[in-house]
Amino acid sequence: MNYHSHSNPKVKARFGDALLASLATDGGLWMPDSLPYFNPEQTAEMGAMSFADCATFLSRKFVDERYFTDDLKTICQDAYDFDVPIVTLDGKPLDTAMPERDNDYILELFHGPTLAFKDFAARFMARAASHLMQASGETRTILVATSGDTGGAIGDAFLDQDGINVFILFPQGGVSATQEQQLCTMGRRGCNVRAIAIDGTFDDCQQLVKDAFGNKDLSQKHNLMSANSINVGRVIPQSFYYFWTSLQLKAAHGDRPLVYSIPSGNLGNLTGGLIAKKMGAPIDRFVIGNNSNDPFVDYLNTGTYRPRPSVPTLSNAMDIGRPNNFPRILNLYEGNYEAIKNICWGASFTDAETERHMRKVYNATNYIMCPHTAVGHLAMEAFCDGVETDFTKVTVGTAHPAKFSGSVERILHTDLPVPAPLVRAMRKQKRVHIMQPALDSLADYLAIHA
Ligand SMILES: *Cc1c(COP(=O)(O)O)cnc(C)c1O
Repeated sequence: MNYHSHSNPKVKARFGDALLASLATDGGLWMPDSLPYFNPEQTAEMGAMSFADCATFLSRKFVDERYFTDDLKTICQDAYDFDVPIVTLDGKPLDTAMPERDNDYILELFHGPTLAFKDFAARFMARAASHLMQASGETRTILVATSGDTGGAIGDAFLDQDGINVFILFPQGGVSATQEQQLCTMGRRGCNVRAIAIDGTFDDCQQLVKDAFGNKDLSQKHNLMSANSINVGRVIPQSFYYFWTSLQLKAAHGDRPLVYSIPSGNLGNLTGGLIAKKMGAPIDRFVIGNNSNDPFVDYLNTGTYRPRPSVPTLSNAMDIGRPNNFPRILNLYEGNYEAIKNICWGASFTDAETERHMRKVYNATNYIMCPHTAVGHLAMEAFCDGVETDFTKVTVGTAHPAKFSGSVERILHTDLPVPAPLVRAMRKQKRVHIMQPALDSLADYLAIHA
């Protein structure tokens, strides 16, 4: 598969080069030249595979000749060594659910090592990039600015992968205590992943990363690479779980239309879903939940896209005022607003509404949602309001509630058990370098450690 820049179809690259270059030479976002399509006979076979095997099968269509099927098999088996459960709000897994009664599911994408859906893309991307480094003997340096979840997923995914050093920049005091402990305890002293606490805001972290990429000397000297969702390697693997889970749901529920609700920020997760649909996944609609940062929902409602500065909310991983995958979505539908509106429906919610919903669901079912997942579930409820059609509802659970235990425990007045990966992180000594938001300081640090 070849890729082209969304802003100039003549700018081309192979998958591996698009992955390593992050952005096209004209500054555009990489898009696949075409998408494979699977007919119902083929999807029936793919639905019978394990998730890792289905991911292997799908990924073959997206890579280049430097990846053999066996390589992809190893990459996917190794990346996807955790469950992808679809459960009802009272905790029943899909295979014991009763189609006549159950139609309100959570797709729990948070059973990977860092307890957020970003593990799916980060782990595939890390192994795919390292595969190329092993073959060429080259090295790359990843700089990633994080407001919480991305840094953890990227750091963990690239830990001990050959040929790649990772520097995670987070705002000091600006991420949850759990997230900070996760970020600062990855690997061992001297390993390839390092956390840097920036004495500033998330915007300062992002600006610093941008400045570093914009600085030719620095970016060439260290072969800088981005692991944010501008990178096409972060988006493609997110189509795999939509594809595979939609087949599991169809197998259980037959012809009932299938709707996914996605709590969204940068729209990378939604882009993955739209790609899956284009490949033949039997998904009828996507519902988009935004918090008060709702430029995409606003676009769906008005046809006008107005990016804006972000404001802090309870669901902080979605505090995005200029979603960086919006151009990809336009590109997938050739800028056709009506076409996008036919597939996507959105609603946005305040923190007060989100808190109330988390309590309502918990009191009715005992199910504990993280604030992001709650925004998605609220959007699904709003979508269903007044709609007569009977369809299967799936809300994408993007993070484990324990990652946001501070706010979840305050809202629900209950203590959350701590999952094993967090127990391990809590026991470890933090290693973190504190830095002023200045390019010189970052350059000095990279000169020593990259
Ligand atoms: C990153 C993230 C989101 C937003 O996903 P996008 O792909 O940026 O839209 C939602 N919830 C959680 C928990 C996240 O970490």
